[in-house]
Amino acid sequence: MIKRGLYRRCAESTCKRRGVLLHLESNFYRHKGSKNGRRNICKQCYALVNSENMKRSAEKRKANMKIGGKASNENRKKVLEEFGYRCALTGELEGVTVDHFVPLDWGKAAVREGIGGNSSKNLIPLIEPLNKSKWSNNPFIWFENLDELKVKYGLCDQKWWTVVEFVAAKHNMSAFEYKIKVNNCYWEVIAEKYMEILNYRLENYPSKYKPYSIIWFFLKNCFNLDVVINRFGSKDAKKFYYAKETCRKIELHKASLME
Ligand SMILES: [Zn+2]
Repeated sequence: MIKRGLYRRCAESTCKRRGVLLHLESNFYRHKGSKNGRRNICKQCYALVNSENMKRSAEKRKANMKIGGKASNENRKKVLEEFGYRCALTGELEGVTVDHFVPLDWGKAAVREGIGGNSSKNLIPLIEPLNKSKWSNNPFIWFENLDELKVKYGLCDQKWWTVVEFVAAKHNMSAFEYKIKVNNCYWEVIAEKYMEILNYRLENYPSKYKPYSIIWFFLKNCFNLDVVINRFGSKDAKKFYYAKETCRKIELHKASLME
């Protein structure tokens, strides 16, 4: 006997097991907030979609690297000298690397704001474990969540803000102004990145499975959807967003967020 709620058909129209009832627990990934706590599309389809998204991010990262290239040796040397060849946060001399304070793969958005890229203004010396964990995260969110490494290297907020002030001053800003600028840029990067996924999904999978989850992500994080869609959305994205069905779902979702 098939118990209701235990089986589901994959919602991906290109699914290889299209139409087949699949066991919910073994064939669908957990997903908070979804019906029965599982994703709409089966594990196989999810892996496929996800690997394509990842391939695209990697391509974009590569393209962005080309904008800035690598920091010149001259800029690296200058920054290392400023900090006495020590890590800006730990003060260590061993294993120091040169870190881009605003990640290089924030690309054009950061360059537009005058805060990113390979300029010596955007470089600080960091030991490798810190540089690696910082990666392309928002530096401020990164430091806030740096629990283990923070303890390991005895890093305090005061030390962090000294470094921020130093970088901000190079941009003729206060630490506070600089933080706002970095955060604004971060949200722009996020908006562009998620919209690219949405555009891609609509273009390549114009199936009945619509990328609502990305819309919910924007709503949850208080993005102005009109602005985001008009700025980064493809023709199809705009069509999708302004469709009656989508508008209705958005209204419902907004109402559920208010509860
Ligand atoms: Zn499937």
